[in-house]
Amino acid sequence: MTVDKGSDVGPGCLFCRIAAGEAPATILYQDQEMVAFRDSHPVAPIHVLLVPRKHLVSVAEAQEADADLLGRMMLRAADIARKERLEGDFRLVTNSGPQAGQSVYHLHFHLLGGRRMRWPPG
Ligand code: AMP
Repeated sequence: MTVDKGSDVGPGCLFCRIAAGEAPATILYQDQEMVAFRDSHPVAPIHVLLVPRKHLVSVAEAQEADADLLGRMMLRAADIARKERLEGDFRLVTNSGPQAGQSVYHLHFHLLGGRRMRWPPG
């Protein structure tokens, strides 16, 4: 299967444009290396996306040099969950590749909460 990975940094990548303030989003948090915003089609009462400003396609394509960034993003997700009053009860997930359901090819974590989650995921 041919997948359009939207690998162009800048105009070709939706999440690069959101991170740059060039496309609209409800931003909850941002710093020099990441941005968190509400998902436009939430699948849970709380559905936040965390993206690195650096254009990484997916976790599968991340490098050792990205390890600290990815770790800080997970800790930031937990902090956002606290601010969203999820009381430590949430799911943090990243889809990598078409079979896993990735539709935007700029690495992102989904922070989901506010309802009971099922396992295994569909
Ligand atoms: P994934 O399918 O794991 O790649 O997740 C992509 C997510 O991005 C989906 O949950 C979409 O609802 C969300 N999404 C797509 N476009 C936007 C947008 N413009 N603003 C916020 N979220 C978006």
